[in-house]
Amino acid sequence: MTVIEAHHIHKRFAGVYALKDVSIEIEPGEIRCLAGENGSGKSTLIKVIAGVYRADEGRLVIDGTTHEHLTAIDAIRAGVQVIYQDFSLFPNLTVAENLATNTRLEQRKRLVDWSVMRRIARTALARIKVDIPLEVTVGELSVADKQLVAISRALLHDAKLVIMDEPTTALTQHEVQNLFSVITDLKAEGIATLFVSHKLREVLDISEKLTILRNGQKVAEGGTDTFDEAAITYHMTGREVSDERFQHTVTDRTPLLRVTDLRRAGLFDRVTFDVHPGEIIGITGLLGSGRTELALSLFGVLPADSGMIEIDGAPVQIDSIQAAIDVGIAYVPEDRLTEGLFLEQTISRNIFVSILDRIKTRLRFVDLDAARRTVNRWIEELSISTPSPEIAARALSGGNQQRVMLARWLATGAKVLVLNGPTVGVDVGSKEEIHTRLRLLAASGVGVVIMSDDIPELVQNCNRVFVMHKGSFVREFSSELDNAALVAQFADLK
Ligand code: ADP
Ligand code: MG
Repeated sequence: MTVIEAHHIHKRFAGVYALKDVSIEIEPGEIRCLAGENGSGKSTLIKVIAGVYRADEGRLVIDGTTHEHLTAIDAIRAGVQVIYQDFSLFPNLTVAENLATNTRLEQRKRLVDWSVMRRIARTALARIKVDIPLEVTVGELSVADKQLVAISRALLHDAKLVIMDEPTTALTQHEVQNLFSVITDLKAEGIATLFVSHKLREVLDISEKLTILRNGQKVAEGGTDTFDEAAITYHMTGREVSDERFQHTVTDRTPLLRVTDLRRAGLFDRVTFDVHPGEIIGITGLLGSGRTELALSLFGVLPADSGMIEIDGAPVQIDSIQAAIDVGIAYVPEDRLTEGLFLEQTISRNIFVSILDRIKTRLRFVDLDAARRTVNRWIEELSISTPSPEIAARALSGGNQQRVMLARWLATGAKVLVLNGPTVGVDVGSKEEIHTRLRLLAASGVGVVIMSDDIPELVQNCNRVFVMHKGSFVREFSSELDNAALVAQFADLK
């Protein structure tokens, strides 16, 4: 008995394979992880299973019925429910309304019976043992609570398989554990979960069986206990990671950046580290560890209360973004789409915006030729693939958008480049390109700081990694840095 079977699925976009001959079978109550790097085809596969995309070849069997052309309605009727990253909830409606509306519509009840609605909602939430006030509008809930509402709503549709696409991205560690216990409860009811992730430790934590995609193909599958971290990383990346480690040239020069006892009340405390020319250092930690706040502090957004920051051996005061840029610190934020990139603006304007202010204030006019040369130089240097610098950033792929962000900050002539989650949501090819670029930058004498929870990324690219926990550095890895050591360290933090 299977809940769903996908046989020999092929899916192409504009002639390029997103999925190539992928098969997967899921049994009732099973907890399956679908793992793979960004761009490996995970989301495409679940959209095919959910009837959102039609496969170019292959067939789906749900509950014993073969579908050549599965529609989204077929999939929902058959009990396949997908929790997308935006949760598809109505932010202006209350929890009760979000939970009960569909059910009521299906029953063709046009009059709102509040007591029935509340009962439906309360039962739905109780089923996954969560207690969220029914009258609160969904827009006011935390991400974790929205997700739980979306899961309970899925269960109202008699779900047999709940698919979650990278559900932990915006959750704290505690919320992740809570989600895992909900998944375990679903299992007890015979409901299967397909959990999509590219995070090693989650995959090992929650799943019973593991399917790994790479470049649109299934490269490994089996019981999770038959894999270790190294094997999963190998299958995900196709490389023996240890062979490709970043080799940095040791210098005894003054650090480019030295941070001593940096503190901002309630966010981080006693943070001490340095970055030498040519180094790529990593800062990692669980969500909520304070690493983003630390980055924002180095960039003048959340100035520190106390402690010292030195650039090239001289103390500096970083109390504004302009001050950070002036001393040579550049920051590429985690969510380029909401924090950095101006989607509707042209590529050239996006690259140029950081130097524009300086040029304007100092020279009082913009030298357009110089601007154009700078922009073209960075488009070429970073291989940003675009027909013209004058098209909107929205038109670029995620990887190219990330390169535009990089270009913006490199154009400021930064000495220290701080990147938060540099390859989150970026396809495999661009990920490699970004890593190569960061190594070249380091080799040219820039100090690079990567904030990331992508363990293979840190191990491959950093010569030192600091682990942050509850606002402080708890451990530094240098020569002993490897995947297993970092995974073990994370396990200790829980
Ligand atoms: P993952 O979820 O593993 O990160 P995706 O399934 O989103 O990967 O993407 C797999 C590949 O298919 C990527 O190269 C991506 O660029 C491409 N792709 C995904 N969706 C589309 C689409 N709607 N149009 C064109 N290409 C797409
Ligand atoms: Mg995806």
